[in-house]
Amino acid sequence: MNLLKYKKEVTAIITAVTVSYCTLNYRVTRPNALAVLKDGKTIGYIRSTADYQNAKDNLINYIKGNFSSYDLADEFNIKRVKVPDSMILTEAEAENVLLQNSETEVESAALLIDGKEIATIESEEEGNKIIQGVSKYYIEKSGLKDIKETKVLSQITYNKAMNPLSEIREANLVIKDIIKRNDNNNLIKISFSGIKTENVKISPATRTIWTNEYVIGTVITKQNGKAGLKEVDKLITMENGAIKISKTAGSRVINESIDKVVAVGTKNPILAGIAFLSTPSRGGITSYYGYRWGRLHKGIDIGARTGTPIYAAADGTIESASWDRGYGNLVKISHGSGIETLYGHTSKMVVKAGQKVKKGQLIAYVGSTGHSTGPHLHFEVRLNGNSVNPLKYLR
Ligand SMILES: [Zn+2]
Repeated sequence: MNLLKYKKEVTAIITAVTVSYCTLNYRVTRPNALAVLKDGKTIGYIRSTADYQNAKDNLINYIKGNFSSYDLADEFNIKRVKVPDSMILTEAEAENVLLQNSETEVESAALLIDGKEIATIESEEEGNKIIQGVSKYYIEKSGLKDIKETKVLSQITYNKAMNPLSEIREANLVIKDIIKRNDNNNLIKISFSGIKTENVKISPATRTIWTNEYVIGTVITKQNGKAGLKEVDKLITMENGAIKISKTAGSRVINESIDKVVAVGTKNPILAGIAFLSTPSRGGITSYYGYRWGRLHKGIDIGARTGTPIYAAADGTIESASWDRGYGNLVKISHGSGIETLYGHTSKMVVKAGQKVKKGQLIAYVGSTGHSTGPHLHFEVRLNGNSVNPLKYLR
């Protein structure tokens, strides 16, 4: 019987299985990292003792470099473990985890704004950086340039004390926190001044040329005006994001404006014999200008029914619209250069003294008020107070 040989083979197989099982088992459970423990609790995983030592050395260097007074504690333990690679911290992460969990006491400062405690920070110097950072935020947001006179209106104080490293907050995070909290209340007030440049339109001026080339009442635009542009520097004082004072500090013309030029006629149409009046009312002439029964009839009479509209014969200003014993309801319009038109015996007047009217604008209605024998419009034209024959000037 080859029993011995059989036994050997079985033993060999068992040995082979055992060895490969152990190899496999070892591969699964072999430690690949160090668990860093703080008071028996794992706070993170580091690849090697060298990495751990590096992180610890860096932490100690940081403490020694930034704090004048400290009380180093040997506070972490390590243990070999097996974890997925993804859980192992980088060197920078490891340093941060040690820092965040360190209860080593260091002389640090509480930052107070108007007596209110905001955060525990490394030092007063760090506090100044924080306040500068907050100021910088508001200044950049304002868009002002040539910044002068940055002032912190709130009272900044520091309380020095021994605090655990884990309580010390990073400057950039404190800056963000102050800005965020300042949106809701007045945590800190920062005042600063600077220049803001604005583009401002220059309105064109109007230049008038008085000319005998045109009859009075004529206004002709000779040149269209064009707006110009200037840069205006405003010296602005702000508190946080609000403008407190704004004043002009200077300006520069970029484009000059172009004046509007108008020609205004000065030629007297009566002296020049120019027909410039429009007929004031519908109706036929019932009485002309001139002597009538030995007396001067100073105007023309236009026969029309009561209520027929009466229009201004030319542009002008209502001199009066009032009662006269002879003329009844009388409208007088002044046209400049001593020229007036009169509209008598009206039933109703719709204009008031001082009002500007255009040629053809409704001013009254035909009537028979005052010394009148029936409804008609008595229309008169005067130059320097003397009546002239209206027919010469009616178109
Ligand atoms: Zn008359």
